[in-house]
Formats: sequence, C-alpha cells, structure tokens
Amino acid sequence: MREVSIGALRLDRFAEVLPPERVAVLKTAADRAAHRLAGRTVWNVSSTERGGGVAEMLQTLVAYGQGAGVRTRWVVVTGDERFFTVTKRLHNLIHGFSGDGAELDADDESHYREVLARNLEGWEEQVRPGDIVLLHDPQTVGLAGALRALGAQVIWRCHIGSDRADGHSSRAWDFLRPFVEDADAYVFSRREYAPAWLPASRVWVIPPSLDPFSAKNAPMTEESVRGALHRAGIVERLDGDGNVAFVRRNGTPGTVRVHHGLLVDEERPLPPDAAVMLQVSRWDRLKDMAGVLTGFADHEARFPDGVHLLLVGPDVRGVSDDPEGAQVLSECRQLRAALPPPTRARVHLCCLSMDDVDENAHLVNAIQRHATVVVQKSLMEGFGLTVTEPMWKERPVVASAVGGIVDQIEDDVSGVLLQDPADLDRFAALAADLFRDPGRRARIGAAAHERVTRQFLGDRHLIQYGELFAALVA
Ligand code: UDP
Repeated sequence: MREVSIGALRLDRFAEVLPPERVAVLKTAADRAAHRLAGRTVWNVSSTERGGGVAEMLQTLVAYGQGAGVRTRWVVVTGDERFFTVTKRLHNLIHGFSGDGAELDADDESHYREVLARNLEGWEEQVRPGDIVLLHDPQTVGLAGALRALGAQVIWRCHIGSDRADGHSSRAWDFLRPFVEDADAYVFSRREYAPAWLPASRVWVIPPSLDPFSAKNAPMTEESVRGALHRAGIVERLDGDGNVAFVRRNGTPGTVRVHHGLLVDEERPLPPDAAVMLQVSRWDRLKDMAGVLTGFADHEARFPDGVHLLLVGPDVRGVSDDPEGAQVLSECRQLRAALPPPTRARVHLCCLSMDDVDENAHLVNAIQRHATVVVQKSLMEGFGLTVTEPMWKERPVVASAVGGIVDQIEDDVSGVLLQDPADLDRFAALAADLFRDPGRRARIGAAAHERVTRQFLGDRHLIQYGELFAALVA
C-alpha cells in the first residue's frame, strides 16, 4: 500500500456557497466528530489516487476530514494486471454485465487474497485498535478480516451497484460475500444496491458529492475556459491567450501547459465556434462512449450545423488500473476512422493525461463549461459524478435513466432522462432538441445547479459520515 499525501482544507470555505445556518450545522457536526474520534485515525483504502469518482471524492473528503480536526489518511493498494482484471470482472458483474465473459475461479480468489495480504505488510503496526477503516469498492474489501483482527472498525464503502439482482451480479456477490461479511458496517449510494443478505441495521445510504472549490468545479471566466482549452490544443484560438492559471488543491498556483496529441488521431483542434456535445468518462464499456459516437454519427442530420461531439477520457495508452480502457478507446478510434470524412470531422476523441491531477481537473472543468450540452449515456451507473459536475456548472445534461442517475436528475426539470440507453434515435432527438432551444437549456441548467446545491455538496456527505462514525464508536 502507498500513502497519498493530502493537506487539510478548512470547512470555513463552505460559507462562500452555503447560507450561514448550513455552515453552522456543518461546523457543529465537525466539532462533535473531532471530539468523538480523538486519538483514532480514519483510514481510507482505495485502488487508485487518480481517475474515477472515488479518487475524485477522496481528494477533498480526506482534506476536509483533516480540516475538521479528525486524523484522516488515505492509502492505495497496489496490484498486478491479473488482480485488476479480476476486480474489473467483479465491477462489471455487479453492474449486471458479463464483461469479458470469463468466470471467477478458485485461482482468481487465491490471487486476490495473496495480493491484498501483501498489501498489508508494513501497515499492521500503523493501524491501531479503535481506528476506523473505510475500504472502498471490491478491490479492497478483502482486507476487512485482517484489519478487524487488528482491532479496527471496518466499513465497506461500495460505490457501485445495480438496480436489480441477476445471475451476473450474484456471481460477483458469491465471490465477495465472505470478505464483505467481515466488515462492521456498509455504505451504498442507494438502498437498492445492498445485497439482501446484509443486515439492514448495518447498512447506511450515503450518496456521493462534489467539491465546489476544487480545480474541477471552481468558477472560471469564459476567457480562462477558452485560454485553457486553446493552450491544451483542444480548441482553436479565438482571441488572446486567456488566463491559463488555476489554483491547486493545496492552494498554490498552477498553469496549463502546452499539450499536443490530447485529441487522438487528429491534427487540428476543434473550431472555436463549434457547439459541443460532450461526454466525459473513463473508457469503460458501461459508459458506452461507442454508443454516444454511433448515436451522434448515425443521426447527425438531426443536429444543427456546427454541433461537434467531444468524447473525453483519461489517457489509457500507458499503464492503468483499468485493463479494459485501452481496448474501449481503440474500439472508439476504429468507429471514428470508419465514418465518412465530413462526419468524422465533427467527432473528436480526447485523452487527458492524469500525470498532474490538478491540471487534469482544471481541463475537465474548462471542457465541461465549454460544452453546450453534456451527455452521460451509461448502460449502468452507481452514481455519476460526471452528471453532478456539469449540473453544478449549469449545463443541461441528457443522461440514461439508470442506477443513481434517477436520483440525480428530475426529468425535464434539472436535466433530461433517456429511458432506454439503447435507443440511439431517442438519444439523438433529446440532445438535438436542447441545441435548438437556448431558453430550455438555461432553465434546466439553473435547476440543475440548484439541485446540486441542495443535495450533492460535501457538507451533507461529511455530516453523514460523522453520524456513521459516531454510531460505530458509541
Ligand atoms: N474524470 C477525469 N478525467 C477523465 C475522465 C473522468 O477527471 O478523463 C473524472 C470525472 O470528472 C469524475 C470522475 O472522473 O469526477 C468519474 O466519476 P463518476 O462517478 O462519473 O464515474 P466512475 O469513473 O467513478 O465510474
């Protein structure tokens, strides 16, 4: 395991976006948690410090935990390709998706155990009786038994789930159940995601949140959006160089560097006046980047002239904890290469480097703000931060009515829901309608921002964790 070093963030900053009463409630809860947890450490264990929703949230929740006076640490497990292939298979199966179709066998299970046992070496002496350990997702739940034996209280925080149990998900649960049962408490994003065999009294429902001050979500002027995208080589220059400075999580200034080759298979950046339809996702089959591409290309005529599709994901051309990523990207590249040249010129694939997490976040921020319409055509989604983020930025989002997304968007009020993600014709129609109606876009964007403010900011999330910790140490 490797520690991710995170500096403290003060809770006072919530006063910039929340009414004073709400900030006061947060601070009271934080003081209470700091008092109750004095002398204990809250550990977070996840599979990666960059890329994906879990890493995105831990980067700030860990910092706020420290800012609240609770000793909070974050470590990531290390594994080999086989380990991550097994855990990716579990991830797909829980979502009711057979993925690579391979079975999970006894060898997979012993490899999973071995890799996690190796991860604990050197950490046994650091975890103290009474500490609280949050294990995130299937990649880490196999540590529950050993950590409990050290006297820690173990919570399994599962960020994924499916609306209904089926043969695929039960195969994953059969594998995971002996590990899961070792934990003291469980957190899911929706009640429906908890398997029926878990005791209801130990299940907590805590939906994710975003941080309004991070490089991913902080306010940006139109000029700095254009500056960042131009400098990154994603959009052609419109005027001036723009302001390309941003603030890192630790408060220090950063700058967007000149990038080449973020747009894959292209020589020229997007025209500055293109109206952008955007999906930002990991290159994961369940995000259906390929379906978005085909939905746009096959129904191009529905969209007004000047609309371009931009698909953005992490750079998976090197090593990653997601072995499927490179394959999914390559399928999208092939689909794009096969399009007639005029359509191909309106479809762009963008791979953002994850080497500098803050710079990546700043670029995603700029890209989301630059989009006219954001889509998230996932086939399954535990809860989509890539939905919450553009909603916070007042963008209208068209998203599949699957998993946690139905808790995020109220159809035709704070976004638009696509009932059947396989219906490409309907998908194109819903998105194209929004491009034609600026008034509706503005109404939906304002309602979306309002909804995120009410339900999906960090104060609610931190208070719920505080309540869970209090119940465990009582
Ligand atoms: N993300 C990113 N760069 C990328 C692709 C995704 O920073 O190239 C971020 C995205 O902004 C969001 C997170 O990764 O914060 C994805 O979280 P989500 O809950 O949508 O899906 P997950 O990846 O956890 O399934």
